[in-house]
Formats: sequence, C-alpha cells, structure tokens
Amino acid sequence: MNVLVVNAGSSSLKYQLFDTAKNVVRAKGLCERIGIGGKIKHQNLETGKVYEAEIEMQNHTVATKIVIDVLTGAEYGSVKSMDEIEAVGHRIVHGGAYFSKSVLLSKEVLANLEKCRDLAPLHTGAHIMGIEGCLAAMPDTPQVLVFDTAFHTATMPEKAYVYPVEYDMLTKYDVRRYGAHGTSHRYVSGECIKMLGGKAEGTKIITCHLGNGSSISAVKDGKIMDTSMGFTPLAGIEMGTRCGDIDPAIVPYIMNKTGMSPDEINDYMNKKCGLLGVSGVSSDCRDVCAAAAEGNHRAQLALDILVYGIQKFIGAYTVTLGGLDAIVFTAGIGENDFSIRSKVCKDLKFMGVELDEEKNANLPRPLTATEISLPSSKVKVFMIPTNEELVIAKDTEEIVKSL
Ligand code: ADP
Repeated sequence: MNVLVVNAGSSSLKYQLFDTAKNVVRAKGLCERIGIGGKIKHQNLETGKVYEAEIEMQNHTVATKIVIDVLTGAEYGSVKSMDEIEAVGHRIVHGGAYFSKSVLLSKEVLANLEKCRDLAPLHTGAHIMGIEGCLAAMPDTPQVLVFDTAFHTATMPEKAYVYPVEYDMLTKYDVRRYGAHGTSHRYVSGECIKMLGGKAEGTKIITCHLGNGSSISAVKDGKIMDTSMGFTPLAGIEMGTRCGDIDPAIVPYIMNKTGMSPDEINDYMNKKCGLLGVSGVSSDCRDVCAAAAEGNHRAQLALDILVYGIQKFIGAYTVTLGGLDAIVFTAGIGENDFSIRSKVCKDLKFMGVELDEEKNANLPRPLTATEISLPSSKVKVFMIPTNEELVIAKDTEEIVKSL
C-alpha cells in the first residue's frame, strides 16, 4: 500500500511516501515557511531526483496540494495519479487521555483532537491544519492519526501517571504523565524484542531515546510501565534546550527573582536550559562534546549531567521492571554518539552490563540495529535506529485494510 506519512508543524510539513508491502520509502520531502513564504525540498528516492523550489504556501492546504502535484508529476513524481496514494498517516504529538491507539479520522476524532489543543497548543494546531490540508486536497483518501502519547497512555499504571498533587488536578484539568516519543519507544522496543528471540512475554527493556528532546522508558512484556517525560516533554533528563526534572519550587523562585511571567518561564525552561544552558556553548551534543574535549568545564559538566541523568533512570527503571534484559539506545545522540553510550554503560558493570567497546565505537554505516554488548553481558545493549514513520505507515495500512 502507498501511504503518505505526514508530520505537520506550525510552519512546516514533513512527508514520506511509503510502500508498506516492500517497507521502503519511495519519496520524502519538507515544506517550510508555510504562511510566511513557502519552500519545498522533495526527493524521489527511486530515481534519486531532487526538486527544490520557493513557492507561495499560504497555508497547509496549499502546501499539501503542492506536495501532491510533485508526487504525481512527470519529472519528480512517484505515482501517476493521486488515486495511487491509498491512505494518509499523520504523526500527532499529543492524544491526551482520548487516544491510546491509532485511529481512523472521523468528525468525532477531530473533535477529541481539538480538546488536546490545550495540552500541546503549537503542535495540535499544526496537526489540525495538516489534517484539514489533506482533507481539502484528497477528500476521499482515508486518514489515520498515530499519537506520540498512545504507547504510554495505553498501559502505564496509575501509580506511574498520577502526580502526587490534589487528585482534582487530574479529573478537572487532565494533569497526569502522558510521556512523548511513544512511537519511537514502541518501534525500538519491538525491534529489541525480535533481537531477544521474538517473544514479548517476560522481556524487561529500557529504551533510551536520546535526541534533541530525550526520553527514557521502561517496557515490560512489550508494554510501557513508566517513562521519563511527563505532563509535557519538559520532564525527565537534561535535553538540548530543556531542563528536564528540576525542583518545582525553583520555578516560582526564578519568577520572583527575574520578574518572568508564566509564559516566559515556560519558554525559558524549554529553550534556554539543558545542554545549551549549562554549557553556554550549544544545544547540539556534537558541539558540546567538541568544547568539552578542548577543556571547557561547563561543556563537560553538561555532558556529565546528561550521562548521570540517563544512569539514574536506568537504575530506577530496573526496579520498576524487576530486573533488566536489555538497554536500547536510539535517536540522534543514542544512535551516533558512542562516547555517551560508553560512559552510561561504564558505571553499570555491577548490574551485569558489559559493553563491547570496540564494536560500540565502530558501528558500520549506514546504521542498522546492532547488539553492542559482549557475549558475556547479562544485560544486552543495543543500538537501534528509530523509525517512527514506518510505525505510522504500518498502523495506517492496518487500519485502512480493516475497513
Ligand atoms: P530531534 O529530537 O530534533 O529529532 P535528533 O534525534 O535528530 O533530534 O537528535 C539530535 C541530537 O543528535 C543533537 O544533539 C546532535 O548533536 C546529536 N547527533 C546527531 N548526529 C550525531 C553524531 N554523529 N554524533 C554525535 N551526536 C550526534
């Protein structure tokens, strides 16, 4: 099945055309500056042809039409007509408590998605624009929504998702742990289960999605038990620009000291902290590593905080899981930065983690899922490149086929 996977941001629209029968991406691209200009970069991965242009894109509907024109066009296209695009799968960042699995788009689904707007205002607004854009451009094509929160909300136990504040906060305002990156945790834990023998039952896995945004999850029997991101993606370990878990009393304290408003402190904690805030160098792990190698103390400190944070979650989640079979590293840092993987594992020897340093430092490119622990290691360690788009395409195919 040809499935168009769409990831709509506030002024962007990323897309991939999947052939789910062959598990291959036929074309991919990105529309940027929607609403303030318009730019498209499209790649036909079968012919290798690349199309780049600046075209006025007033909104997501226009951007979607442009994408379809390119996909069906003679020169850069992958299909002869729009009818060959059999379904659209949307990546949705927040499904609130309404969605704990992927769903077919309907009026009722859209109304419930609207209710998630408060929980992720920028993302949800962009997703709705993307959905409406596709509805306008291909009204008869079935659309499926795949939620980043769904893997977590489907199975996380109450004790892990309810915060110890007044219970009213949950019932009145939907304040709870939702987590994020669920599609990635679901994909890499699924691949890990295959590498452990294929049976989910009895497996205890910790998945570390370490990118610009980072989260760590505890997965037992293929199901989420807990995850480090919380009500929003601000919680958990130190990230590129997000602070992760801090004493909540720091928030009003800084507000009083600096005069920041609630919106300003929220922005501050999301955009000025983390690796960037501590190092003062960059939010990009590569830059921070380079600065640390040159002796920059704050850059080294930012990395030490990151490694320590990952280790603390691994320690805690080993208890959550009642043991540990495997640790998985994925996303930008998890896939590429062997030194972070090495530092995290170094202190975990006492719990049976033995990294194959040689293998870890010399992974062949292009990266494919690889076991990077020694044969003697009680706990296996894997580097597994994430593939959220594949999960979206597969869920979309499954739901559309069942219609
Ligand atoms: P996002 O959360 O935006 O999807 P990514 O998963 O792409 O982020 O991860 C971005 C992070 O991955 C950055 O901190 C970047 O420095 C890091 N990264 C990417 N490539 C490498 C590499 N080759 N070595 C070390 N770190 C890398």
